[in-house]
Amino acid sequence: RAKHTGGSGFASYDPQMLAGLVERLELEADLRLALTRGELTVHYQPTIDMTDSHVAGFEALVRWQHPVRGLISPMAFIPLAETTGLIVPLGRWVLTEACRQAMEWSRQTGRPPVKMAVNVSVRQFDHSDLAAMVREVLTETGMPADRLCLEMTESVLMTDTEENLAQLVRLKALGVTLAIDDFGTGYSSLAYLRRFPVDTLKIDRSFVERLGEQGDDAALAGTIVQLGQSLGMSTVAEGIEEYGQLAALRAMGCTFAQGFYFSRPVPAGEAGRLLLESAAVRPSA
Ligand code: C2E
Ligand code: MG
Ligand code: MG
Ligand code: MG
Repeated sequence: RAKHTGGSGFASYDPQMLAGLVERLELEADLRLALTRGELTVHYQPTIDMTDSHVAGFEALVRWQHPVRGLISPMAFIPLAETTGLIVPLGRWVLTEACRQAMEWSRQTGRPPVKMAVNVSVRQFDHSDLAAMVREVLTETGMPADRLCLEMTESVLMTDTEENLAQLVRLKALGVTLAIDDFGTGYSSLAYLRRFPVDTLKIDRSFVERLGEQGDDAALAGTIVQLGQSLGMSTVAEGIEEYGQLAALRAMGCTFAQGFYFSRPVPAGEAGRLLLESAAVRPSA
């Protein structure tokens, strides 16, 4: 935000803006090092099966344990990773760590690997051969492809549509499943959705929040569930915080649930305990 000074033609910059820029550059330099220094970590949030409330899987969510600033939210550094291209090595690291963790739990419990969902940014489609990377990670970790779900936002369908469609077809050929994250917030049309090999719609948290309200807005979540059903896709409701929201979504026929009502994203140790508790309740899972 440059302020115009008199008629001199010079722009003097807001000191706050300069501080913001310096901070951004510092953070960018730190983020480059974070990967090599092992400062990134993954938390896991369970996805719950609506029919019997067992843990159906986990979503891997990256965090940055910064040496000075403490635990930094992905909202604060994923956009930076995207603009700098760092998202490519970062994305690979998260995917590897999440698959490695699923395999470790599998060895500990003697059960098939838990279903693991990993977020991928639209930038990972632009900058790299995503399917080749995913195939390598699956081979390195031994994770079966059908246990992995990749979450992406509608922007993947809406930008560079033909190229991204080709990449998604290659990903599907590996055997992984694909989910549209934050569904309903973008502008993807029904025509796009039908063309893409999508397995799951994740209903954005904003629609779950509106469930308690009066009027048409409360019905939107149900509309997405029905859309999923008619396209043969499963649905996951994001951001369930209250019992009433859970009950409403279950009545609508939503397949899976996720949210603070069940669990926040937690470190691997705690997630492993949640998995064991759930398995004790439902031994066949
Ligand atoms: P997302 O993939 O839509 O993940 C859901 C976010 O909602 C998570 O925030 C989660 O902690 C939060 N959440 C879950 N349940 C509730 C709830 O009941 N109430 C509320 N208020 N929030 C809930 P988080 O972990 O801060 O991640 C934010 C976003 O950062 C993610 O949104 C995703 O877009 C991005 N992200 C996180 N990890 C990665 C990653 O490894 N790669 C990429 N590309 N993006 C990531
Ligand atoms: Mg997600
Ligand atoms: Mg989401
Ligand atoms: Mg989101």
